[in-house]
Amino acid sequence: MKSVELNITPEEYFNEELLLEATSRVIGVGVNEISHVEVVRRSLDSRRGIRFRCQAEVYMADEMFVAPDFSSPYRNVYDDRRVVIVGAGPAGLFAALHALELGIKPVVVERGKAVEERKKDITSLVRNGCVDGNSNWCFGEGGAGTYSDGKLYTRSTKRGDVSEVMRKFVEHGADPKIMIDAHAHIGTDRLSPIIANMRRTIVEHGGEMHLGCRMTDLLVDSNNKVNGVRLSDGSSIEGNAVILATGHSARDIYELFNNKGWLLEAKPFALGVRVEHPQQLINEIQYHGKNYSPLLPPAAYSLTTQVKTSNKSSKQSSNQHGVFSFCMCPGGVIVPAATAEGEQVVNGMSNASRSSAFANSGIAVTVSLEDVPEYAQYGPLALLRFQQEVEHRVFEVAGGGLRAPGQRLTDFCERHSTGRLNRSNYMGEYVHGELDAMLPPFVCECLRQGFRDFGRKMRGFYTSEASLLAVESRTSSPVRIPRDRDTMQHPQLQGLYPCGEGAGYAGGIVSSALDGINAIEKIQNTIEKKQYTNN
Ligand SMILES: Cc1cc2nc3c(=O)[nH]c(=O)nc-3n(C[C@H](O)[C@H](O)[C@H](O)COP(=O)(O)OP(=O)(O)OC[C@H]3O[C@@H](n4cnc5c(N)ncnc54)[C@H](O)[C@@H]3O)c2cc1C
Repeated sequence: MKSVELNITPEEYFNEELLLEATSRVIGVGVNEISHVEVVRRSLDSRRGIRFRCQAEVYMADEMFVAPDFSSPYRNVYDDRRVVIVGAGPAGLFAALHALELGIKPVVVERGKAVEERKKDITSLVRNGCVDGNSNWCFGEGGAGTYSDGKLYTRSTKRGDVSEVMRKFVEHGADPKIMIDAHAHIGTDRLSPIIANMRRTIVEHGGEMHLGCRMTDLLVDSNNKVNGVRLSDGSSIEGNAVILATGHSARDIYELFNNKGWLLEAKPFALGVRVEHPQQLINEIQYHGKNYSPLLPPAAYSLTTQVKTSNKSSKQSSNQHGVFSFCMCPGGVIVPAATAEGEQVVNGMSNASRSSAFANSGIAVTVSLEDVPEYAQYGPLALLRFQQEVEHRVFEVAGGGLRAPGQRLTDFCERHSTGRLNRSNYMGEYVHGELDAMLPPFVCECLRQGFRDFGRKMRGFYTSEASLLAVESRTSSPVRIPRDRDTMQHPQLQGLYPCGEGAGYAGGIVSSALDGINAIEKIQNTIEKKQYTNN
């Protein structure tokens, strides 16, 4: 077997015969001498022409390609070693799956419903406009990652073995192509059955899944050791350790910590709007004109810039802010992602085919405590209070329900109030609303500068065909639940492992999953054998 680098056209990539011919040219042998070409890594490069850059394994005529086995070595687990995992998002689920590999029983506690039931609540949310505080776009089995685009790329490769996360997705039903794509994605429609399969794996091996169970408190003994959790129905569940993986929208958890005087920190996050363009326009920009190959996937983009503001309230010496695109969904839909009544929040998702006529992306501005000193009185919850107030103001301006207010991109940037709106693929009602009346002035100023710069970097991006919808506020957690760097335990609460996006240590599906895996690894070293129960 030879390993080769290929730099090929889309036509060569998608046609087996042409791929074989291109490979035979690169390694200098006849087509008949090759039995199989297995692409093991691919990325689309559109900088000069449109090329697929691939790494491929070439099997010669006398060699046989054997498809890889994606199954994991799960063990049956018992009550003598168990860990309570709060939250069945990527961090919680991957912690649970890895616990099975290490012979530790995962006891998962999730406030939302099974993914099949959750789907019905989301349909009713869109139909009736009422948000169920335990079952919505962020809460429920699979966590915030389930009704997402399912993009599986991360910059945090130092955190652990990214391919291990991919393998587990494939093992539970994802297309094996995610193993080779530089920018892999699964799609909402495929994620739900994958999450249900993960639940089956956990339960079949002796783990427990407690769905519809909201954790309200920790069981802490007189030595500040956490021995389990209390649930909203008054019952409790014990374990050797507790992984707290409740995501960035579990505001009741932050309030609990704040009320109990357990350590918490305000954490910088980002806030902005979702921008939506016709997908055709993004394709033409990224694929250099109208004559691109129909074989190409809907094009994506990633944009980032630094801007300076005249924000008087800011104590930062330079008033520098990052403005960046976030969670870009080609061929996607904009969704209402609030977790309680009285809030307006937008986010994006797409199906595996990414076939809608719209491209959307969050465009967010970094926000730190220095930008909003008037919230300092709320201590560690300062940025959470700021986030809540903006979401509430946007809800009010929109007129309630799932209405997302916004403007055309050029109307906002040029302060030109036409009141006109483009057609949008938002799942609720898109209504006209001046962003200046909803978002803080420094955020609007940064967005205006950012959009102009993005228009220079990506010709055609700055257009009246683009819509802005408010508010993209759940980009990451505005609070950190601190933990020791080495042990991953909370500095005051022994046996508590704050984990994933809600703890402020991860962002996105893959990095949260890796954080969950790492937490279990740490717990394995400290765990003792003992009999535990649910009371
Ligand atoms: C619409 C949308 C699209 C997204 N698209 C992408 C994408 O394409 N790619 C990507 O990498 N990331 C995406 N994200 C972000 C990604 O989903 C999160 O980064 C990731 O899910 C965080 O994982 P987590 O396990 O830390 O937390 P979460 O996924 O938020 O899971 C936390 C879980 O804890 C549960 N919980 C909360 N409080 C309690 C409690 N008190 N008791 C019991 N259970 C509780 C919640 O119900 C939830 O299920 C998207 C997010 C959204 C909302």
